[in-house]
Amino acid sequence: MQNKLNYKDLTLMAAKKENGWLKYLNRNKKKLEAMDLKIHSLHEEISERTDCLQCANCCRTLGPRITQKDVEKMARALRLKTGDVITRYLRIDEDDDMVFREMPCPFLGPDNYCDIYESRPKACREYPHTDRKKFFQIYKLSVKNAYTCPIVYEVLEGIQEL
Ligand code: SF4
Ligand code: SF4
Repeated sequence: MQNKLNYKDLTLMAAKKENGWLKYLNRNKKKLEAMDLKIHSLHEEISERTDCLQCANCCRTLGPRITQKDVEKMARALRLKTGDVITRYLRIDEDDDMVFREMPCPFLGPDNYCDIYESRPKACREYPHTDRKKFFQIYKLSVKNAYTCPIVYEVLEGIQEL
C-alpha cells in the first residue's frame, strides 16, 4: 500500500493532531519507553511505502546540523577543499551549529534527487529519526517534524494505536 497522504496538506493535518499526540505522551510516558521495537517496525513499514522523491520536504525546509566529518566527506565528493565547502555552502547558526547557508539545500536537484547522496551529511541519512533508540526522548521533536514529514506523521498516528 502506497502512502496516500497529501504531502502539501501535512501542516494543517499535523496542527489538528498535535494536541492529541502530546496528550498521548503525557499519559503513556512509561509505556513509550518500552515501545522502541514496535515503533521501529512502524518506521520500516511506513518508510517502505513512502516515496521521498515525491516529497523532499526535509531537504527544502529543515537545515541539517553538519559536522566536520560531513564537511570532509562532502569536500571529497565535490573535489573541493574543506575550506571552500564551508565558504560556499555553510554558515554558523544561532546555536553555533554548522548548517547549509540557505534552504532549500543547494544539493537538492529539480527532480528531488540529492546531488551528493552517497556523501550526504549524517543528519540527512538519519532523518526522520523514527527508528532511533529511545524514541520517547525525541517524541516531542517528532511532533514538530510531523508538520513536514509524512513518515513521522504516520508513525505518530500508528503509535496511538499500539
Ligand atoms: S520529509 Fe520525510 S518523507 Fe519527506 S523526503 Fe524527508 S524523510 Fe522523506
Ligand atoms: S545534502 Fe542531500 S539529503 Fe541532505 S538536505 Fe541536501 S539534498 Fe537533502
